Amino acid sequence: MPLDRTASSPAPRIVVRGACPHDCPDTCALLTTVENGRAIKVEGAPDHPTTRGTLCTKVARYLERTYSEQRLLHPMRRAGPKGSGRFERITWEEALDTIAARFRAIAASSDGPQAILPYSYAGTMGLLQYGSMDRRFFHKLGASLLDRTICATAGKAGYAATIGGSIGTDLEQFENARLILIWGSNPIVSNLHLWSRVQEAKRRGAKLIAIDPYRSLTAEKCHQHLALLPGTDAALALGMMHVLIAEDLLDRDYIARHTLGFEALEARVREYPPQRAAQITGLASDDIVALARDYGTIKPAVIRLNYGMQRHAGGGMAIRTAACLPALVGAWRDPAGGALLSSSGAYPIDNKALERPDLIWNHPRTINMSTIGDALLEAKDPPVRALYVYNSNPVAVAPESPKVVAGFSREDLFCVVHDIFLTDTADYADIVLPATTQLEQLDVHSSYGHLYVLANNPAISPVGGSSRKRWDSRSLVSARATRRSRVTPSSRRTRTRRVSIGICSRPRVGSG
Ligand code: SF4
Repeated sequence: MPLDRTASSPAPRIVVRGACPHDCPDTCALLTTVENGRAIKVEGAPDHPTTRGTLCTKVARYLERTYSEQRLLHPMRRAGPKGSGRFERITWEEALDTIAARFRAIAASSDGPQAILPYSYAGTMGLLQYGSMDRRFFHKLGASLLDRTICATAGKAGYAATIGGSIGTDLEQFENARLILIWGSNPIVSNLHLWSRVQEAKRRGAKLIAIDPYRSLTAEKCHQHLALLPGTDAALALGMMHVLIAEDLLDRDYIARHTLGFEALEARVREYPPQRAAQITGLASDDIVALARDYGTIKPAVIRLNYGMQRHAGGGMAIRTAACLPALVGAWRDPAGGALLSSSGAYPIDNKALERPDLIWNHPRTINMSTIGDALLEAKDPPVRALYVYNSNPVAVAPESPKVVAGFSREDLFCVVHDIFLTDTADYADIVLPATTQLEQLDVHSSYGHLYVLANNPAISPVGGSSRKRWDSRSLVSARATRRSRVTPSSRRTRTRRVSIGICSRPRVGSG
């Protein structure tokens, strides 16, 4: 089977290596079979150590998405009220000229380029399509920065506070564990290839315990399900630690040699006997004691932490606290022990080289993507006058939907949406640009669930012939936006701003 060849090969049938673009820890390796320029099959690569030939149902049907009749294939301009989703076809030239003219005008106005905001997240996880040319363009333009907080920021910070970075137990080792705590995670639906390792561990005799307020499919298949109250994970971890310390189920040698701050932790843990943890979590005190005893005696023990437990107040602290557990029992001594939240820090990625923060010239403000509704409705000095939305669908996913919809409905807001389909957000766009799917674009993928880097080779030409690769479109806008008039002296002014909503406290330089 010929591999690693692109669609430009003269061979009538080729198989092209790729990577799944989705925001999923598994980052599967894809094999796309292409016949006479058309993709006819997408399957998991059998030789990839974590994919092992299996894709989830979403991506096993990726061809349906790529060749969907509902796909956007050409640029469009709004032809009805905002939110109506009515559009008329225009050419790429018209679309790009319109966007560039609006951006230029805003940048040159007294509001300056910070009135323009890019809005994106993980619609594709590739290093190029997620964050490279887009960042460079908006940095150079002087647009507002976006704080991409919507998913994992709190948990990442909490985990790093204990562990030091986004590193953890190798997914491939889970099958060797004897006790697996699946905490705030539903791997059957969102981490399939870890689940297959967990299943293997179960076949070998491992005990599986799900900790989750919700009785998920995964929880149903574990030996035990502890349905604690939402937002009480830290209390459970503290109650477990109380038992570990009280019953001396600790690895004191490991603690002495590899940890900091045990005495302070011990003092805090004394406040959380199992009875108190039970009151907070809603679990039976005996269950907390039994869980701690299992955790302190069964080795290797590994915890699959996931982002479910950090999406509420105190969520970062919950992850930080639970991440202390493996060190107390010396679980890190064993390759199959420890914990895994994210493996994204296992090897370095030079994001600065991709995103070029050195191109930022005007100390722009930062807007929190999670409060985009507030930002659109209330930000002043300058207001957000233009949005460029890609790799995200904020009208569907951003918190406080009524505010988000009201913000996107502003008639004076110029909104560009760049996507594969007409999304809920696209309904509010002034200009819609068609984007490529993963089969049509080049990319490089790291992973936050395993330890491999994958190349995504383009397998086919853009469907319909008129879609543009995401970075390509932004390059074209960039060329137009910066053509003729560079940023004017008035828009270069940096001003002291006081914006109270959704905007972080990045230091600002101002001249009044
Ligand atoms: S399991 Fe995750 S990485 Fe694999 S194909 Fe499905 S969405 Fe993509």
